[in-house]
Amino acid sequence: MKRNTARNMSLGLLALMLTVLSCNKAENSAATPEAQDSEMAQTPVPDPEVTTENVPTPATAAVEAAAARVKSPVPGYTVTYPFGVKDPRYAAGYHTGDDYASPTGTKVVAVLDGTIAWSNNNGGAYGRWIGLRASNGRDYVYCHLSVRSVSTGTKVVAGQKLGEVGATGNVTGPHLHFEDRPKGGGYGQVRKPKW
Ligand SMILES: [Zn+2]
Repeated sequence: MKRNTARNMSLGLLALMLTVLSCNKAENSAATPEAQDSEMAQTPVPDPEVTTENVPTPATAAVEAAAARVKSPVPGYTVTYPFGVKDPRYAAGYHTGDDYASPTGTKVVAVLDGTIAWSNNNGGAYGRWIGLRASNGRDYVYCHLSVRSVSTGTKVVAGQKLGEVGATGNVTGPHLHFEDRPKGGGYGQVRKPKW
């Protein structure tokens, strides 16, 4: 009886030791490389890490700002012909806005909160057009529209649809010609569009 118990105990111990050993082995082979990799990257460079953590923070802030900020007056489209290109075809001698080539019917949106200063079909070379008097005191001019969805005096918020891209006025194809003027500014009183 006593002998058996002792034998059982030592067998049990052996089994336990083997289990512990194999566990360690498994942990060493499987878990360690990963754990070491990430720790190697983190531990020796606490300061750089603070800086790298500081980089994601502004980046995150930028992403958050981007959510609030409208990146393009034609969401999903970028400038295809930029402001400032010298060309005698234009009365001003240069391209007075940024062009966003996009299919007729693509929505255009307010880049900032504001009020619609004008919305009519009397843009001449600019066709159907809309002027957004924005919260930053600038007038943003949306030209060549096919559809105007807002009327003069309407209050709008950033990102709100104002109309649709078209090819009205003097154009060779559908696009938004987008100008940035001082409040009440006329043709040629423009800067590179920003908001
Ligand atoms: Zn243009």
